[in-house]
Amino acid sequence: MINSKYTIREHNEAIILKTLIDEKEISRAALAEISGLNKASVSSITKKLLDDKLIVETRVGNASNLGGRKPIMLTFNSKAALSLALDVAPHYIEGVLTYIDGEIVSEVSFHDLDITIENSLEQILRVINDLTSILPKTPHDIVGLCIGIHGLIDEDTILYTPNYQLPRNLKEQLIQQFNFPVYLENEANLAALGEYTFTSRTDSLISLSIHTGIGAGIVENGLLRNGKHRKAGEIGHTILIPNGKICPCGNHGCLEQYASHGALYRELSASLGKNITSATVVAEYIKDNHIVKDALKKNAEYLGIAISSFSAVYDPDIVIINSSIYRQIPELLPLLQAQMTGHFSKDVKVQISSLNQNLTLLGGVSKTIQHFLNIQNLKL
Ligand SMILES: [Zn+2]
Repeated sequence: MINSKYTIREHNEAIILKTLIDEKEISRAALAEISGLNKASVSSITKKLLDDKLIVETRVGNASNLGGRKPIMLTFNSKAALSLALDVAPHYIEGVLTYIDGEIVSEVSFHDLDITIENSLEQILRVINDLTSILPKTPHDIVGLCIGIHGLIDEDTILYTPNYQLPRNLKEQLIQQFNFPVYLENEANLAALGEYTFTSRTDSLISLSIHTGIGAGIVENGLLRNGKHRKAGEIGHTILIPNGKICPCGNHGCLEQYASHGALYRELSASLGKNITSATVVAEYIKDNHIVKDALKKNAEYLGIAISSFSAVYDPDIVIINSSIYRQIPELLPLLQAQMTGHFSKDVKVQISSLNQNLTLLGGVSKTIQHFLNIQNLKL
């Protein structure tokens, strides 16, 4: 295994790697032209990257119009390393092992769990054990583990998880288990990073994750806007209804008490008298159940109001909705957009995430690869 993974990659080396990823296949001469580095630097950096097996020579290209030797083309070696990403939610854990281009090697999910302070480490290790039971041979092996947490995280500590309890020092516990870097990040932030890296062409987006609660991730040029105390994006805890329903955060009337999937399921199970999941919501909607339709309409209006306010604060290029219900009932989107008519929100694009995969996991992969390659504005 090549022992180069935990040092921060040198700046010019990262520029060359980024150019190689963007251009797919390129000659050394073109690398020099695009990167602005001189040919001698490009030559020595590409030699190092070839030795590290992060890039490969593919074929002999065509000679330029001026004649001369035919160039040898280079590409990024997307199979050079592996990345682990987990989404640890109150009642499920999902995980993927991927190559460094995001291609999935294996995936695991456990549902109907109750994650607690006592069992979280054991459950996480069980998922990682399953994911890595068959490990493909790669030059750099696993270069990082990123875990999405449904709550507030600072660099190393879990600060606040309203819907479940986790050990504050979870990262420290995990570091003791592995010889690769471990990252913890808020799940909505990761979903935004996943969109930025794998689907979106824009440099400025907000991704709204609607699950038990509602969180937003804000990305600009590949960088998450976390805020001074890493509380940015907590749109679910902005007050929608004065003196409304009590929220675990201490407020009354928070958005997520009215417009999250959790709130929708609670409301519908009370009025329909049965256990509600996203599958039942969609099934009843298709059957034209008016109670469900009215609840979804109200839900869309609330979300539209919230997105309108958020757009006025952050001025994004696009807002991406990450919701299993919106993905299955896209006709809810115009109801939501009908609330966005003001000067500061009418031009903001709103779109339902096109990815069926768990975006938090893709964001986790992105965060690990960003660190490994030292490329912040990574687009794969
Ligand atoms: Zn709240």
